[in-house]
Amino acid sequence: MLNLVLFGPPGAGKGTQSQNLIEKFGLIHLSTGDLLRGEITQGTELGIEAKKLMDEGVLVPDSVVIGMISNKLDANKDAKGFIFDGFPRTVAQAEALDNLLESKESAISGMIALEVTDAELEQRLLKRGETSGRPDDANPEVIRKRIKEYNDKTAPVAGFYKNQNKFTSINGIGAVEEIFDSINTVIASY
Ligand code: ADP
Repeated sequence: MLNLVLFGPPGAGKGTQSQNLIEKFGLIHLSTGDLLRGEITQGTELGIEAKKLMDEGVLVPDSVVIGMISNKLDANKDAKGFIFDGFPRTVAQAEALDNLLESKESAISGMIALEVTDAELEQRLLKRGETSGRPDDANPEVIRKRIKEYNDKTAPVAGFYKNQNKFTSINGIGAVEEIFDSINTVIASY
């Protein structure tokens, strides 16, 4: 199985590159952000709770996102592999993901990190906010909060995969196709 973790701050281009990877490798895309927004649209209890936190730019509890991922892994038993996008976002989530995959006799192939500067991120998110309809993209204060949450809680997840020799970082600034080529070079090395 090819199980990729796409890593990088909000606005790094994980969603865009995920679409390319789905087409090329037939992987199942698991974006916790998209799953949470789906819960919000459906008006579930989980969605109502998550919305408050997401609108402030803070992370939702680990147990919530781990539960969602677990359900999706169970629902896609015959998958060729998965792209994890926006997950794991804390070291506790990374540990839980290893355990979930191990119980299915599988494992993470590698983490690929997209490197983008904070100034570029803020620009991209504000631009996305003009059309995405996402409240968390429209407000500079919330964007800065999300980048801070990333630096405090999510950046350490890179160390978790470095310790397992599963971490590669690539330049996330440039043409979408160029970045996709770099990702493919990493995958070819697995
Ligand atoms: P972005 O990467 O652009 O910030 P996402 O769509 O991945 O966007 O996430 C939006 C929001 O959803 C986050 O700010 C956070 O509140 C919540 N969220 C998404 N994934 C997770 C996760 N794995 N753990 C905790 N919160 C999450």
